[in-house]
Amino acid sequence: MATYTVDVYAIFVNGADPKSNFSRVKQDIYKANHAWEGCIKFLLKGVYFSKGIVNAGTIPADKVFKNSSIHSLIQSARNANEHKIGIYVFYLKGDFLAEGRGKNVIGVSGTEIVNFKSSTQYEFFGQILLTDMAANRNTLAHEFGHILFKRFDKIQNRFINDDPSGPYIYHQMGRIDPAHNNNRKNLMFPISPSVNPMVTLQQCQLAKMSKIVNIRFF
Ligand SMILES: [Zn+2]
Repeated sequence: MATYTVDVYAIFVNGADPKSNFSRVKQDIYKANHAWEGCIKFLLKGVYFSKGIVNAGTIPADKVFKNSSIHSLIQSARNANEHKIGIYVFYLKGDFLAEGRGKNVIGVSGTEIVNFKSSTQYEFFGQILLTDMAANRNTLAHEFGHILFKRFDKIQNRFINDDPSGPYIYHQMGRIDPAHNNNRKNLMFPISPSVNPMVTLQQCQLAKMSKIVNIRFF
């Protein structure tokens, strides 16, 4: 039997005490493993408590990963982990990111491609920012989904992270959002459900093929 695992590193820059931060990340990982149960298992490989504090309200929600303070945080977290492939989760202080990509943003994710050799041979790592408002929700599980769906699409000749069970349709504006799901019970609905989020077979199968996933056979 094979298990599909993803390594996760948590970095706290929220100024909260280590004990409450540790229970927070444990709960987030627990909820993510519950949401992705039978598909992907997330393994917490490192937890770091920084003395520095980053206020979410100072980081505009668009282009977060180009923000210089976020960029240097990511660099130091990756250096501390010998640039291991995995998902780096940063816990910021405050309720919401500054306005940019919409209002009241409590979580964002991104990826960075490393060692690109060809459309089938490449590596990437994931990065996620969460605010205090993302606690007790499925935000981390949802952001994990965006990262797991990242792949090179040969037809479009570019990287995409479309939900294979998507898209989400904004009925009022007639706009479609390929990264999200139209079923409000699905984990990848734009605002992830707070209880028992659903992951479809297609979503699971695509996630298992992600380059960020480690496959172990027993
Ligand atoms: Zn989303």
